[in-house]
Amino acid sequence: LLLARRGPCSILHRRHASTRTVNSVINALTSEPSSLCAPSAGPLAGLRLAVKDNICTKAWPTTCSSKILENFKSPFDATVVSLLLDGGAEIVGKANCDEFGMGSLNIHSSHGPVVNPFGLHNGEIVERRSAGGSSGGSAAAVAAHLCDAALGTDTGGSVRLPASYCGVVGLKPSYGIISRWGVVSFADSLDCVGVLAQDVHTVRRVHNALAIYDSRDPTAAPSRIREKAAQLCRRHLEQGQDGALNGLRIGIPQEYFPTELQDSIVASVQRILAQLRSRGATLVPVSLPSTRYALSAYYVISSAEASSNLARYDGIECGMRVEPPPGADLVKTANVYAHTRSLGFGKEVQRRMLLGTYALSADAFENYFLQAQRVRKLIKADFDRVFCVPNALNSSPSAPSEGVHVLLHPSAIQTAPKLPGQDDANAESSTLDAYVQDVMTVPASLAGLPAMSVPGGQGADGWPIGVSVVGQWGCDELVMRVGEVIE
Ligand code: GLN
Repeated sequence: LLLARRGPCSILHRRHASTRTVNSVINALTSEPSSLCAPSAGPLAGLRLAVKDNICTKAWPTTCSSKILENFKSPFDATVVSLLLDGGAEIVGKANCDEFGMGSLNIHSSHGPVVNPFGLHNGEIVERRSAGGSSGGSAAAVAAHLCDAALGTDTGGSVRLPASYCGVVGLKPSYGIISRWGVVSFADSLDCVGVLAQDVHTVRRVHNALAIYDSRDPTAAPSRIREKAAQLCRRHLEQGQDGALNGLRIGIPQEYFPTELQDSIVASVQRILAQLRSRGATLVPVSLPSTRYALSAYYVISSAEASSNLARYDGIECGMRVEPPPGADLVKTANVYAHTRSLGFGKEVQRRMLLGTYALSADAFENYFLQAQRVRKLIKADFDRVFCVPNALNSSPSAPSEGVHVLLHPSAIQTAPKLPGQDDANAESSTLDAYVQDVMTVPASLAGLPAMSVPGGQGADGWPIGVSVVGQWGCDELVMRVGEVIE
């Protein structure tokens, strides 16, 4: 039945011209919007989705926005893609992203940067700002109404940061809840497929259709753990029901309000907190003391895992191949590796692979990689200490009864930054600036927790601000309920 359904349905149509024009201005989709149609019945019927270009699709190339995969067409669909189609969704195309998901501004892409559609007026870009990264194409496609929802991936904030910059909703689910089978790995212990849409209701629809155990993903949370988490969270689920918040305790982590935070962002968060309190929620100041080490630990762990994952693109086993010039060297194989990888990978990916390889080398392993793993444990323990919902992943889950149900903090330290010019003299300093953008989002990634950014007003410059809700592992629904009250 499935085969019969897929066969004649797998036709690519052209969409109308104005959609094409918008896309050519903001560069959110890697090809002109087209559509892969699906059966019209199902929980996702009527929804048009874009899929980040590091998620395998049979109908479109999967390039990961890298030259090294520019001609790669997957022979299979990722589990999430099959679930979308089986659920009745229509897929409009692949979304631009930072190369292999590495970046915060969607400027490291073989397809070019994604321009934030918030700067679009009457079909023209009046202000060229970043759509955020790495799932910038997914967020921009949603914000520009090229689709109703989009799949992104979030390793350290790549769904939440673009959602915040583009003024849409972005959910990173609990780690292991949505299948990663067919999703190109960046850092396996952190990678999650996430959902972006204009509202929480649509995010929930897509999330619920995808949050299914998949035996092909070895890191998928087993059904037993899902049930345990559901049981532990269920008790608290009436909090946030129908917008009445009596009994809901919201933690405000002090470490998420650094002095660098723009004043207008603090003011927006304060306004939202006052609103939540007036609806009956109790606001509780909390401390997550290991937060200050999270960014460094994240970049060591994610780069180490990336250096191992990306070793397969060598011009021999996998990916494009660049032959060395004739007579270049006796050691031909090593030369193919070097030429292929130097030309196939962009600068940022090369930087991460060098950093990761160094962190895993005998001299640095103890001081960098193991130390980062220790920090990761401390960060998880910080979260477990503040939530009243026990962590279903712990062997004997317990939690303080006076703890909080969710945490709330700004999603980013600023509104969307300007896109760097072609010959920006500050290119190097902007690399560090880009890493700092993730300071609010990486702790939840290291702990594998569900986190959602929802639009929370406008900054002093009039650009969107995002507010993040973070919950205990497996409490994705509770996070969405609180997000729904804020939006
Ligand atoms: N910006 C972070 C990085 O560059 C996060 C990326 C992601 O979540 N895919 O690694």
